Amino acid sequence: MSARKAAPGQRRALIARQRSAEVGRGTSMPSSWGLGDGQQIPWEYAPAPEAREIVQLKSRYGLFVGGKEIAPRSGQWFTTVDPATEEPLAEIARATVQDVDQAVGVARRAFRRDWGSLPGSERAKYLFRIARILQERSREFAVLESLDGGKPIKESRDVDVPLAAAHFWYYAGWADKLEYAFPNRDPQPLGVAAQVIPWNFPLLMLAWKIAPALAAGNTVVLKPASSTPLSALFFADVCRQADLPAGVVNIITGPGEIGLALVKHPDVDKVAFTGSTVVGKEIGRALAGTNKALTLELGGKAANIIFDDAPIDQAIEGVINGIYFNQGEVCCAGSRLFVQESIADPFIERLKDRLSTLRVGDPLDKNTDVGAINNAAQLAKIEELVEAGQAEGADIYQPACELPARGWFFRPTLFTNVAQSSRIAQEEIFGPVLSVLTFRTPAEAVEKANNTAYGLSAGVWTEKGSRILNMVSQLRAGVVWANTFNRFDPTSPFGGYKESGFGREGGLHGLLAYLDTGDGH
Ligand code: NDP
Repeated sequence: MSARKAAPGQRRALIARQRSAEVGRGTSMPSSWGLGDGQQIPWEYAPAPEAREIVQLKSRYGLFVGGKEIAPRSGQWFTTVDPATEEPLAEIARATVQDVDQAVGVARRAFRRDWGSLPGSERAKYLFRIARILQERSREFAVLESLDGGKPIKESRDVDVPLAAAHFWYYAGWADKLEYAFPNRDPQPLGVAAQVIPWNFPLLMLAWKIAPALAAGNTVVLKPASSTPLSALFFADVCRQADLPAGVVNIITGPGEIGLALVKHPDVDKVAFTGSTVVGKEIGRALAGTNKALTLELGGKAANIIFDDAPIDQAIEGVINGIYFNQGEVCCAGSRLFVQESIADPFIERLKDRLSTLRVGDPLDKNTDVGAINNAAQLAKIEELVEAGQAEGADIYQPACELPARGWFFRPTLFTNVAQSSRIAQEEIFGPVLSVLTFRTPAEAVEKANNTAYGLSAGVWTEKGSRILNMVSQLRAGVVWANTFNRFDPTSPFGGYKESGFGREGGLHGLLAYLDTGDGH
């Protein structure tokens, strides 16, 4: 029987069974608990909400240009919404092309006047200051990320915000050592960087983009996604708090066409984009024939490969983290699971058991594992692809969890009997949906894993180091994790190839993308 149809009592029993198995005890309970043989403790979590009040929202946010908040020339505003409740959070300025022009002009002047010629050791001080302020305001930013983006607070608190601060710490350290990082290459800043970021990691993507740009001596105009503009606008306040010279960082908000106007602006020297492959291609076409430096971090359809000698407990957690972290709205999510045939049945059973323990709901609750889908369009896309998976004959499994009555939520989902050609095995779903396939030999695993238009990330689970090295050399992915998944570190370059884009963010590679070293960079 599918657990999707299981009654809540059965689900609780499953959870209790899992928990008792985890602590290595039997399932029988002390008689003092008043339970008969075979009965389980009814396990419910008490609500554990993080205090929303730590975030003080204004009713309206203008553009951040030249160190000041300004009204958009359009006189128009759009609303950003809490995806967990569908309630409005604030009104956001809709920039015009003239606003973009002004922001780029301001960034150019700040580059010429202050930032481009400031000694690296001075730039570093600002970056260190920003990192420290992000840490000091970490709780506020964590709540903000969950409010505006729908992600569980434990993820924004433990992953997004600390990693964002870590990027500023890391690149602050390089700001005065560029000549050592790239010896004999006379590294120089490029000028004005136009940066367009998506909604899945609003603060972290901002940090990935702004930290290396500033460390290298560039100034920035950044456009956040329309469904998650708040963290960038709060970051504007961090810049003010850090006394960053006016115009070094500028934030403009508005629809995709404003993003396009920004990257096409003739006075922009460098473009960095993270988002969908469709938009990445459009930007690539728009910039063809110009001298602008370009990095594109686009979609993915990562293979997570489990060999029969893998550490199974770790692998189960790695698979869960790989696809249900951030509701699966992750470009490098391990959305295709390849399990060696000899262990496929028990592995899938254990995966289903583990799936049924995931808690879906209020992103601000500290016990929530899977929060809200970021926006209604994304939820519709997930629903459409899940329907397509069923229509194409794959078997669906969803645990019996209750979804909140309001907000955009989707059950963690797992498909078995998935054909390689199926849409759910080929297209980026960007949701909590895992497609499970099997393989017999390492060669077959490689063949199937590489059978995708994308090439961003992959995972390999095996106890044999030699097999890891062999697989890594054959998998066509920019990042391959071994016996782990979704690990990020500012020192480590990240990026893809094929339809996942080009260029690297993080590490020295990420710094190089913002420098002219006279040899094509
Ligand atoms: P988009 O690629 O449309 O959006 C990413 C960013 O680009 C946003 O700031 C967006 O602005 C902006 N943008 C949109 N159109 C243009 C354009 N023509 N020129 C320049 N900038 C533009 O992603 P979506 O939000 O529409 O998501 C669609 C799909 O993309 C998802 O289902 C997922 O598959 C994939 N995706 C991949 C991401 C990744 O990390 N690789 C991140 C997000 C999505 P605005 O928000 O105002 O539209």
